Amino acid sequence: MSKWKDQIKNLEEFKKKLKNDFPNLYKYLNRDRSVPYCSLCIGKGWFDIIYNLSAKIEPELLKISKDNRPAAIQIKEKFGSLRYYMLRNKNGIPTNIETLVNAAEIESSKTCEQCGKPGTSKCNYIHFWIKTLCPECHKERSNANKS
Ligand SMILES: [Zn+2]
Repeated sequence: MSKWKDQIKNLEEFKKKLKNDFPNLYKYLNRDRSVPYCSLCIGKGWFDIIYNLSAKIEPELLKISKDNRPAAIQIKEKFGSLRYYMLRNKNGIPTNIETLVNAAEIESSKTCEQCGKPGTSKCNYIHFWIKTLCPECHKERSNANKS
C-alpha cells in the first residue's frame, strides 16, 4: 500500500492528486465547463494501478513537444476491467504508452476494484454486470443485491 493513499479518502481527492502530480497527462481533468474534458470513474481498489501507470506515462509525455502531447480523456471500468482512453495527437498514441496502458488494463482484470486485493471477474446474470472483485467483495456485492 503506498503512503499517499492514506491521505486520499475519495475519488475527488484522487483526481486532485493525479492532476497535481501528472499535470500533462491530466490536463483535461477537473476542468470547468470546457472541452475536451477528462472523466475518471473507477473504484478505490484500482487507484494504485492508475497512479503507477500515470507515473510511467508522464515522463514519456515530456519527450513529446508540448502542443502535440496526448492526454487522458476517459478512465472507467467496463466489463470488469479498466478502460483508459487518451486523446490522440496527430501522430496517435506512441507505442510505448499503449503498451503501458494495455499492461494496466490486464492488471485491473485481476485486481479487486473495491479493495485492491487479487480478484477475478464475475458476471451477474440477473443484474447484468461484470465486476472484478476479490471473493469477499463479490460476496458483499451479491448480498447487497439480494436485499
Ligand atoms: Zn475486495
